[in-house]
Amino acid sequence: MKETITCIDCHSNKSVEISLENNTVVSRKHVDSNDINTTKLFVGQGLTDLQVNGYCGVDFNTFPILEKDFLKVIEELVKQAVTSFLPTIITNSDETILKLLKNIHELCEKNSIINSFVTGIHLEGPFISKAEGAKGAHDNKYIKAPDWDLFKKFQLASGNRIKIVTISPEWKNSIPFIKNCVQEHIIVSLGHTIASPEQINNAALAGASMSTHLGNGAPLELARNSNFIFEQLANNKLTASLIADGFHLPDSFLKIALATKKDKIVLVSDSTMFAGMKPGIYNAHIGGDVVLEQGGRLSIQANNKILAGAAVSLLFCVNKLIKSNLATVSDAWALGSIQPNELIENAASDFVLFELVNGEIQIKEVFKNNMRIYSKTKTFL
Ligand SMILES: [Zn+2]
Repeated sequence: MKETITCIDCHSNKSVEISLENNTVVSRKHVDSNDINTTKLFVGQGLTDLQVNGYCGVDFNTFPILEKDFLKVIEELVKQAVTSFLPTIITNSDETILKLLKNIHELCEKNSIINSFVTGIHLEGPFISKAEGAKGAHDNKYIKAPDWDLFKKFQLASGNRIKIVTISPEWKNSIPFIKNCVQEHIIVSLGHTIASPEQINNAALAGASMSTHLGNGAPLELARNSNFIFEQLANNKLTASLIADGFHLPDSFLKIALATKKDKIVLVSDSTMFAGMKPGIYNAHIGGDVVLEQGGRLSIQANNKILAGAAVSLLFCVNKLIKSNLATVSDAWALGSIQPNELIENAASDFVLFELVNGEIQIKEVFKNNMRIYSKTKTFL
């Protein structure tokens, strides 16, 4: 069956014509069209989430990760316009990290769908800060100084899939570790840290190029003028990832970060397994009983002032920026697609068609590798 879809590039505002034959894209080109004022359909790159700990009840940090569960995550993320993501493995025993990395590697080797969505793996820890507040939910007993030989074992187990490693540069041997990573084309991201401004800047000079969920994974109180958050905001070498779910950072912080970092920003969901689940009370293996509210806020049941991680999709964060007037549709969409794709050098041909309904993005169709994989509430992979 042949079809032609006319839509508007959400960045250039130019008309785009997409020709399809049996759900396969035959051509996609800019055209001069009079439809620009009548069509309400927009096209943008697929979203890329650089930090996904889990989704819809599936936890990437619990061994074993089953093939059917991984596919379930993909099916649900596609509905949220995500066409690439980095499963994120956090601090754990060396043995468990190795097992989880090997698990993901084997799933990618076995299943071409999984392989096409996993653009890499984000290893968040174990080389982070032990300081209270900075370490967040990471288990103190497994946190350690950067260790290149150990990292090489991790990378081998992952089939060379680790693309981002989050470390704290407060460890003495951070600099040679960062240099080794850069040489192997691995992005070093600074996070879960209480490093001094000098340590932050030295890490960036050595090649660290990213900040992990800037503004979170930090102690509640900091020195007012000289601290690692200001230093990372001010350092042009560092692209900041932000959890813009409306719970992790106040709008004022998002506004400052967007203004100072300009295009050196990416949005991440940092979603836990509770994202995509129905509101309710759940038992988390870290933090005990947690409450998931209707709007996506996840907190500790015993003290609901304390967040228990993130529980919304990247699309929710893109919409949050638009609804709060913090970014235009074009800019917000770029922060979840073009920017992360550029950062990890992901050649992105995947695209998404969406509409704006009451100032909110609603996904209509998703295309991956030039195949239609989602349309009208149905995923077909
Ligand atoms: Zn974290």
